[in-house]
Amino acid sequence: MHALRMYINGEWRESQNKETRDIYNPATGEVIAQAAEGTIEDVKEAIQIAKSTFESGIWSQTPPAERAAYLFKIAEKMEERAKELAELETLDNGKPLREASFDVADAAACFRYYAGLITKPNGETYPVSDPVQGIVVREPVGVCGLIVPWNYPLLLSVWKLAPALAAGNSVVYKPSEVTPITPTRLFEIFEEVGLPKGVANMVMGSGVVVGNAIAESEDVDLVSFTGGTKTGKQIMKVAADSLKKLSLELGGKSPNIVFADADFETAVDYALFGIYAGAGQICAAGSRILVEEGIYEKFVSRFVERANQIKVGPGNDQEVEMGPLVSKEHLERVLSYIEIGKNEGARLVCGGKRIEKEGLQDGYFVEPTVFVDANLSMRIVQEEIFGPVVVIEKFKDEKEAIALANGTQYGLAGAVFTKDGAKALRVVKQLRAGITWINTFHNTYNEAPWGGYKQSGFGRALGTYGLETFQEIKQINVNLQVEPIGWFSK
Ligand code: NAD
Repeated sequence: MHALRMYINGEWRESQNKETRDIYNPATGEVIAQAAEGTIEDVKEAIQIAKSTFESGIWSQTPPAERAAYLFKIAEKMEERAKELAELETLDNGKPLREASFDVADAAACFRYYAGLITKPNGETYPVSDPVQGIVVREPVGVCGLIVPWNYPLLLSVWKLAPALAAGNSVVYKPSEVTPITPTRLFEIFEEVGLPKGVANMVMGSGVVVGNAIAESEDVDLVSFTGGTKTGKQIMKVAADSLKKLSLELGGKSPNIVFADADFETAVDYALFGIYAGAGQICAAGSRILVEEGIYEKFVSRFVERANQIKVGPGNDQEVEMGPLVSKEHLERVLSYIEIGKNEGARLVCGGKRIEKEGLQDGYFVEPTVFVDANLSMRIVQEEIFGPVVVIEKFKDEKEAIALANGTQYGLAGAVFTKDGAKALRVVKQLRAGITWINTFHNTYNEAPWGGYKQSGFGRALGTYGLETFQEIKQINVNLQVEPIGWFSK
């Protein structure tokens, strides 16, 4: 059994009131760890430490190449421990080992990417009247609050930690209360590489206590949040009082559009990957498949045939292709959406139940599920279910496909499958979404901006944009001819 503690000012600490939270293995329902449950006092202390560390300049004013050296060392250590990190991620989140291993490699690469980027030229000069020279420089924002969800406990943390630290900020980071295990290992690595004390602080605990206190604090300059749209709205309200900078990566209900001229088997294959990877617990999941009417019946039948063959089970079994949902609460939420779909009149053509067979009965497993005969007025089409539940809708032509695709409050991602290149680009350009794919799904690159339109949030992670999120921009105007201006006569 792991006892997980918080990391504040370079020390491993219990919560001030000594409370802990049980952490479960989603594949078995067993308690696998106990994590410190942070209090408001813990958060306040961590914020003060981060603030004084920032002001000390020990990190914020260190030359970028020195900060980069720490980030490279972190990446190296993550790679050395890749197997252990992946196994722990699977234990805590439930995802199959092959997904977890991919996440660990990607997270290490993200540290390397930002280590490289921070040493590259990043300012500008601007032409203004003589004798003034204008310069733009980028500076760290200050104390950054980083709040993440449970679906990629390690990777999404790194998407924030790597650029925030590269830029010279001090951070107060909160993992999801459901998945604190690999974040703890990551902070152990920070300690091992000798990251200066107080630069990176981790407070565990609930969103309403720890998360809210971070969003509320006058001493936190920026909050970078990934999680549900409802929580994002709440954070925005709380953060308004101190006019904090915000970056919000929120939910999605992403359309995957399949035209009749698509390569059929490729489209079916990616559509399965789009929704059932991560058991559908991916913000960009292709949870709405829109299929052109000419191939609709054939597509549904082939998709269901393949969905029924997916091997569901514990993530640490190498044969398994889809793991459990992350928690009992989440399992109940997903099952309740399946009931909502049936009651709304959508037709269930695959799955729809918790898996109770011998060996899986105590885990949080749900069958790959497919609904058809749904329309835009239904909750299962409008709301994010965040599970292995997909709705397959039918469209007549390009115009209707675009209208349906854009018909929700979300705008995170979208994909198009067709062999007609011009049509693919034409349709993708009309999708109101920040991440799009043509004849593929889910590709995510450290180099490319990640984020949503509409109520999927604002601000961008990754790429140069992800670094800019954690930087202030300053203009410096230098007078090259130092003499009185003579504006007033005496
Ligand atoms: P969530 O919103 O419930 O929680 C996310 C984090 O916010 C957790 O650490 C939680 O403790 C904290 N939190 C909860 N209430 C808070 C509050 N009032 N103030 C401050 N912090 C609070 O989301 P979740 O269930 O952990 O994750 C699933 C959601 O995350 C889905 O909606 C998914 O789409 C979204 N997500 C988005 C992206 C993206 O890049 N856009 C990526 C992954 C997940």
